[in-house]
Amino acid sequence: MRKTLSQKQIEFGRMVAKLILYAEAIGIPIKVTEWNRDQREQTRLYDSGKSRTLSSQHQIGLAVDIAIIRKGHYITAWAEYRPLGRFWGLLGGTWGGNWQDFNDPFHFQYK
Ligand SMILES: [Zn+2]
Repeated sequence: MRKTLSQKQIEFGRMVAKLILYAEAIGIPIKVTEWNRDQREQTRLYDSGKSRTLSSQHQIGLAVDIAIIRKGHYITAWAEYRPLGRFWGLLGGTWGGNWQDFNDPFHFQYK
């Protein structure tokens, strides 16, 4: 049976919880920097070149952005996010760090 958006959002929330606990277990300090996003914010990101789409999974509550923070600094190195991306894939999600055209290691979405 096809899942409703609400069912997907519930499942996604559980996946994010597992990812947060996994990061803690392997000693990677993270914080969720963005979950839901409205059209206005998506358009702003698109116009500034920080997104390639006007229709993001963030707008339907099926994506989070996560930052690794060490000693008060945001870590941007792709390799640091790889363990999280790999785990996310095992949960059935899509990691933006695997995208070829617009690589986004901070982005974790439902599919
Ligand atoms: Zn994102």
